Amino acid sequence: MSRLLFQLPTAFSELKALYSLKFGSDAPKPVKESLHVLAAEMADMEFCYAALDKVSRSFAVVIRQLPHELRNPVCLFYLTLRGLDTIEDDMNLPLSQKTELLRNFHIECSNEKLSLKNIGDSEAYRHLILHYYKVARAFNQLDEKYQTVIKDICKKMGEGMVYFAERKVYSEADYNLYCHYVAGLVGYGLSGLFSVSGYEDERLQYQLRLSNEMGLMLQKTNIIRDYHEDLSEGRIFLPEEIWGEYAPSFHWFAENPTHTNSINCWIALTNNALQHIPSCISYLKLLKNNQVFRFCAIPQIMAFATLAEVYANPKVLRQNVKIRKGLAARYMVETTSMQQVIDAAEKALIQIESKINSAYSNCAETQKIITEIRAVLYSHNKHRWELPELIAEPETV
Ligand code: MG
Repeated sequence: MSRLLFQLPTAFSELKALYSLKFGSDAPKPVKESLHVLAAEMADMEFCYAALDKVSRSFAVVIRQLPHELRNPVCLFYLTLRGLDTIEDDMNLPLSQKTELLRNFHIECSNEKLSLKNIGDSEAYRHLILHYYKVARAFNQLDEKYQTVIKDICKKMGEGMVYFAERKVYSEADYNLYCHYVAGLVGYGLSGLFSVSGYEDERLQYQLRLSNEMGLMLQKTNIIRDYHEDLSEGRIFLPEEIWGEYAPSFHWFAENPTHTNSINCWIALTNNALQHIPSCISYLKLLKNNQVFRFCAIPQIMAFATLAEVYANPKVLRQNVKIRKGLAARYMVETTSMQQVIDAAEKALIQIESKINSAYSNCAETQKIITEIRAVLYSHNKHRWELPELIAEPETV
């Protein structure tokens, strides 16, 4: 009984957050009909938001609270990259056709006749790309300054996807490069959109190292969390150079989830993601618009909580481990300032520290990273603007 009473305030605030997300004024209306039906009756931008709801619920929520001027550009940026990803993920497409589509998508994304049939491995993606002409028409209505940023990132990401369609992620450097292409570039693009909109400092678009790490942190968290799901679908994004030190095969971990090697390997991978957090905090400290700040901070806080959940947790090797829906809703509703980011981050750090165990050699590295994270978290110094510093990309691309 006392335990139940102790949990009640948490349960109540989570329910409240869930309610406000579901029924609040900015809440996306749940779309029941298929995109195929909606395409016929909806205006272009209306269709785009319906498509956004279908392909990403959590992103659809944070995007709606951006400053009005930025909402459509960010929504269309997301759908453009989703279009690319739909092509990349379709394993039934012949390689030559796939690479051609990926290379040309930065031109095709404004083609008002574009309709690709039978591409995409789920219904929502297939219908998005089938009715892509609606996204293209909305895209062409955007101010040119936004179109330029989106096309530039689409071109770079398409080239990166081609590069990895032809080879595997093997080394740690490959892993960082793949995550740069599919997520770090999203960070570049968002910083670009924020800068050209005037809502953020003009120099934000040049903070490439920090923008890249914002994306890497989110991407790596998903990859580490989704091990079991990816394994069952035959996908491997984790670098053999790291996991190969602990096991003879990638599926060995699922068969030996509580083995010291499995736990140690997942600690090493989690450490690898945690090391991006100081840069993410520095990035968040550079933002001046509160709505842009929330948009950037909420996914970071959720990723941080996910890493804390996954840390030294053998369950992740057997099933999908996710943070509670109520907790996610609380972060979405309650993350409004740097202080809340600090509080949520500290909570995750304490959760990780409680699992540090001398039986696992990689825990020592975690302790070191935690010290670095706290130093940035509690530092009152402003992060200095950096000069543009390009991420090394292979010359063969
Ligand atoms: Mg993909």
